[in-house]
Amino acid sequence: MKANDTTMGQLADEAPLNGVANAGVLPQLLSALRGIVDEAGLLLGEDVSSRHPGVFMSRIEADVIVRPTTVEQVSQILALCHEFAQPVVVHGGMSGWVRATQTRRGDLALSLERMNRIESVDLANRTAVVQAGVVLETLQDHLQQFDLIFPLDLGGRGSCQLGGNAATNAGGVRVIRYGMMREQVLGIEAVLADGRVVSSMNQMIKNNTGYDLKQLFIGSEGTLGVITRLVLRLREQPSSSNTAMVCASSFDQIAKLLRHMDGALGGQLSAFELLDNNFYSVNTAAGRHQPPLPSDKPFYAIIESLGSDQQHDAEMFARALEKGIELGMIEDAVIAQSERDKQGIWDIREDLEHIVRDFQPFYAFDISLPVGDMEEYMRLVTERLHELWPEGSIAFLGHVGDGNLHIAIGAGQDEDREQVEACVYEPLARYGGSVSAEHGIGLEKKRWFPISRNPIERDIMHSLKGLLDPQGILNPGKVLERAAGEGGE
Ligand code: ZN
Repeated sequence: MKANDTTMGQLADEAPLNGVANAGVLPQLLSALRGIVDEAGLLLGEDVSSRHPGVFMSRIEADVIVRPTTVEQVSQILALCHEFAQPVVVHGGMSGWVRATQTRRGDLALSLERMNRIESVDLANRTAVVQAGVVLETLQDHLQQFDLIFPLDLGGRGSCQLGGNAATNAGGVRVIRYGMMREQVLGIEAVLADGRVVSSMNQMIKNNTGYDLKQLFIGSEGTLGVITRLVLRLREQPSSSNTAMVCASSFDQIAKLLRHMDGALGGQLSAFELLDNNFYSVNTAAGRHQPPLPSDKPFYAIIESLGSDQQHDAEMFARALEKGIELGMIEDAVIAQSERDKQGIWDIREDLEHIVRDFQPFYAFDISLPVGDMEEYMRLVTERLHELWPEGSIAFLGHVGDGNLHIAIGAGQDEDREQVEACVYEPLARYGGSVSAEHGIGLEKKRWFPISRNPIERDIMHSLKGLLDPQGILNPGKVLERAAGEGGE
C-alpha cells in the first residue's frame, strides 16, 4: 500500500461492483432510515465528509453514515438495505491498513460507534460481553479493577473497536502468547445482510456442537455480516513483566534466540519483536528515540515476558538472556529497569511517524512466511527492490514468533506501485507465505489474494458469500469479490 496517494482511492470507484446499483442512496430509503434511528443516528453532507477517512484514504465518499444504538436497529437497517439492494460498508475505529472500510459515492456507511457498552464481566467464567463499538483500550482499562486482561494489544488500541478487531481478526504484539483475535472470541452476535440476527453468544471455551459459525464472521472484513456483540475470553493479569532489547549479527541468531527464550522462560514469553538495522536506525537517529544499544548490528529484537513473581521472573529472564549471549545468539542486551525504560524500548518499535516521513513515497506491507525462510526472503525482496530502484529504502520489522513480517519501503524516484508490490508479494509463493498476516485484504491486497488462496479455497469463499449475502450488498468489492469487468480469477 502507498500513503498520500489520492488517486488510489479512486480505483474502486470506477466500476460498479457485482451489479449492485451505486446510483446514490434513494430518498425512500433515507426516509425509512429516519424512522429507525434518531436524529444523531443519521449523518449527511459535511458531517460525513469531515470525518476521519481512515488510513490511506482521502475522504469518506459515502452518501450517508447511519449510527444505530441497538441490534434491532442494525437488523432493520440491513433488512431495508437488502430490499433496496443498497451497498453497506461497516465502519469501526477506521484504523485498518488495507482500505476495507473505503466507501464510494452511493454507499451507506454503518458505524457501530454508538454501540459502545461493556455489558458485563463474568469473573468466575473470565468472560466479558461487549458491544461491537467498544474501543479496545476502554476494555483494557475497565478490566484493571478485576485483575483481568483482554490480551489483544496493538498500536491502534486507542481508536480501534472490538467489532473491527473481530471483523479483521486483529493480531498485534502478544499473539505469540495468546493468539489472534480469533482465539479471544467465544461468542458472537452478527446481523446478516437480510437483517436476520445470528445469536451465537457462547460463553464456554469448549463447545463442539457442529460448525463454529462465529469463525465465519471473524476475519470476513464486513463481507458476510455485521458483528454487533461479542463474548470475549479474558485472562489473569500478569503481575510481573520484563522487557529487553537485544542485538544480533545474523537472522539465524534471532531465529535460534526465539526458540531458546521460549524454552527458557517456561511459557512466559509474550512478545518477540524483530527490528532490522534500517528500522532501528531511523527511529534512534539523533533527536528521535534514545538508542538502548549502538546501531551497528544488523538485527535487533524486543523480548518481553509476563509472569506472576517479579523477583523470580526477573532472575529467570536475565539468566535466559545471559545464556543466549553465552551460546552466541545475542551480541548484546539491555534489560529495562523501570516502566520508563520499558516504554522507551517499545516506543522504538511502535513509532511509525519517522519512517513514514523518511521513506518516501512510503509503502507498508504485512506478510507471513515460515521463520526458517525469512532470511532468504528478506534478501530476495531487498535485491529485487534495489534492482529496480538502487536508491530505494527498505526496512523489516515484525512479530517473528508468529512468522509475521512488516516491511516498510521508500521506493524513491519514479516508483511504480504494482512493481513495488510485486517485489514483496511474488517471492512469497515459493514459501507458501501469505500476502496478509494480520491486516486483512480489503481493497489493498485483492489482486494478490490468489498467491495465498488456491482456486478451490476461493470457490468455497465465493459460495459462502453468495449464501449469506445473495445480493452482494455487504462491503461490495472487498476481499475476494470480483468487480464488474474484472473477469474470472
Ligand atoms: Zn503487526
